[in-house]
Amino acid sequence: MSDETWSVGWGWICGAVLSLSFGAIWALNYCQFEWFARGWFDRPIRVLLVTAHPDDECMFFVPTVRALLSRKTASLRLVCLSTGNYDGLGSVRCRELIAACKLIGISSDRVHQPIDPPGAGSGSNSGSGGGDDRSGFIELPDGPREVWTADAVISILQPILTAHDITHIITFDSGGVSGHPNHIALHTAIQSLLSRHQTKQLTAYALATERNPIRKYTGPVDALITLIGCIATRWWWGGSNRSNGSDADGLNDQCVFATAWSDLLSVLHHRAMICHWSQYVWYRFLFVTFSRYTYLNTLNRIRPPQPQSTPALTQS
Ligand SMILES: [Zn+2]
Repeated sequence: MSDETWSVGWGWICGAVLSLSFGAIWALNYCQFEWFARGWFDRPIRVLLVTAHPDDECMFFVPTVRALLSRKTASLRLVCLSTGNYDGLGSVRCRELIAACKLIGISSDRVHQPIDPPGAGSGSNSGSGGGDDRSGFIELPDGPREVWTADAVISILQPILTAHDITHIITFDSGGVSGHPNHIALHTAIQSLLSRHQTKQLTAYALATERNPIRKYTGPVDALITLIGCIATRWWWGGSNRSNGSDADGLNDQCVFATAWSDLLSVLHHRAMICHWSQYVWYRFLFVTFSRYTYLNTLNRIRPPQPQSTPALTQS
C-alpha cells in the first residue's frame, strides 16, 4: 500500500472519529437533563459554584454553568475565594472575573469575591461583584503553598449559603482537576461542611478530575467515549444512571453536562478566557482548546466522610 493511500486512509479515520465525537457532544447535551439531572430541576434550586481563583470558572466549569443557566428553575451564584494575587495582579483579575462571568451568563451581582485586603487602598475591586449584595470577605491567599483550612473556607461560605438559601454547591473534587492545593482545599472544606450540617437541604457535587491524560486532553473524543459508556450503563448492562441515585432525594450520584454546539460555534470558552487577558498565555489557549472540561463536565456527588467505626471491645 502506498504512502498516499495510508495518508488518505488515516485522514478518513480521523475525520470520522471527529465527526462522531462532535455528534456525541450534541447527544450528551441533548440528553443531559433527562439522563443525568432529572431530579435537579423539579423544584427551584439555588446553586453556588465555589472556585479558588479568577479564571477557574472559564477553564473548568463552563458546561455546568451554561447548563444550569438554561433552566428556568435554577439560579446560579459564584464565589471565588481568592483574588488570584499570586503574581500581584489581584485587582486586575477581580475585574477580569466580572467581565468573564458576564460573558458566560453570570451577572455581577451574583459574583462573590473578596473585598480589598486591609491596607490595599480603595477601589481596586468591588467586593461581592458590584451588585446590591455588599457582603464581601477577606481573600484567602493565592498560591500552592498556602494552606486553606476547612474552617477558613466555611467561614466565608456560610454567610452566602444562609443569605441566599443555597440548595446545591458545585466545586472541585479531591484531585482538584489540576492538583492545585487551593482547589483541593475547597473539596475538603465542602466535605467538612456537609458532615457538620447533616441536612437534606444542601447537596454538593464535585467536578471529576480526569487522570488519564489522553482522555483529559482530547476533549471531543472523550465525549464520544463518555457517551458510549453512558449507553452501555443504561441499556446494555441493564443499569440506569438513576440507579446510583440517593434513595432519599432521587438525585444521581453522577451527572454529565455537555457544552451546547451554539457555545462551541461562538467560541464562547476562548472569548471568556480573553476576558482573563492577564492569564491567557499559550498553554492556557491549548488547554481551553483541547481539554475535556471545555466540552463536558462530569460531576460526582460529594458525601461527607464516614465516621470511623469504633472497634468493638472484646473481653479478654
Ligand atoms: Zn484555580
